Amino acid sequence: MGGQWRLSLAAFFIGCLLYKGLMLSSLIDPAGRSISYLRVSVTDRCDMRCVYCMAESMRFLPREDVLSFEELLRLSQVFVHQGVRRLRITGGEPLVRRDIGPFFETLGQWLQRPEQAGKLDELTLTTNGSLLDVYAETLFKAGVRRVNVSLDTLNEDRFAQITRRGKLAATLNGIKAARAAGLAVRINTVAMAGVNEDEFDALLAWCGSVGADLCLIETMPMGDTGTDRTASYLPLSKVKTDLAQRWTLTPVPDRTGGPARYMRVAETGQRIGFITPMSHNFCGSCNRVRLSCTGRLYTCLGQEDGIDLRDIMRSGGDNAAILAGIQDAIARKPTGHDFLLGQEAGVVNGPARHMSVTGG
Ligand code: SAM
Ligand code: SF4
Repeated sequence: MGGQWRLSLAAFFIGCLLYKGLMLSSLIDPAGRSISYLRVSVTDRCDMRCVYCMAESMRFLPREDVLSFEELLRLSQVFVHQGVRRLRITGGEPLVRRDIGPFFETLGQWLQRPEQAGKLDELTLTTNGSLLDVYAETLFKAGVRRVNVSLDTLNEDRFAQITRRGKLAATLNGIKAARAAGLAVRINTVAMAGVNEDEFDALLAWCGSVGADLCLIETMPMGDTGTDRTASYLPLSKVKTDLAQRWTLTPVPDRTGGPARYMRVAETGQRIGFITPMSHNFCGSCNRVRLSCTGRLYTCLGQEDGIDLRDIMRSGGDNAAILAGIQDAIARKPTGHDFLLGQEAGVVNGPARHMSVTGG
């Protein structure tokens, strides 16, 4: 009898382990990639119109198409319950959305922290920095510890030209406020031939002076922006070789869950990262999916395929129906993107949607 009891107990524990294993594996795609990172775009709107991202006369979505914060939280929670450990909030410009502070405070309660047993390892943000001085402390209090801030130049006129309506001083203020609040900052710089390629040394030195990492990004052909991105495409392999003539760069294995590959800059003590979707894709280790502000789940930045979770949710679907939709999409996650830009003369190939729909 005692032996039987022990066997039943063992069977129960094995059952629990298997169940847990199944739960953990529910977001593994057919290529074996475990999906642990969700990027959530909270708005398609923005106070800038960067030349590589949007058209000057960008038309934004009607408000009713955009998910409410309650809807965004509900969908995000389904992912977190299925093993997503990192959330990055993006846009459009996430900080222009009203009540973004309380949204971060709610998400912060899902973090694993000494005082709470949440399931999330990390909550981060990508921003253009224009409103960061207003929100830096709120973000830190909510549990955010690092932010990515887009900054393509340190020259005021050039900044105005690239962003079409941004103010360099506002972004620099935001970065200063973020550092003062205790947030680690990574500067995201889209590398553009003939636009800011003469500034990488200055940016690297400036990042060292404010204690920020710098991450250079190749221009991707996402959506029609009314400008020819083929002409400004700059392969980062060339940039790296060039920088290495003046800076001591040592590869470091650090990964932050995203696609950047890092090197330590001995002269500043900071890191430089390279994101090379065009010249060297990083799809083999992709652990990410992206939720647009309309509730469409994209399993690849460079592909159109996805699933409309808003339809499922707004037609009364319960969390099991939402999860079935997510699993269906992940089962079709492409093995890689197929961007083409300036690699064959005249060929520009990428999704029709703008980067501001799914964020970065
Ligand atoms: N507004 C915020 C910002 O600018 O940081 C968040 C959204 S923005 C779409 C996210 C990132 O995507 C920014 O770092 C931006 O520079 C980058 N990005 C936008 N369009 C891009 C493109 N066509 N190619 C490469 N990066 C792009
Ligand atoms: Fe706005 Fe960011 Fe796109 Fe620039 S890159 S237009 S700041 S969403």
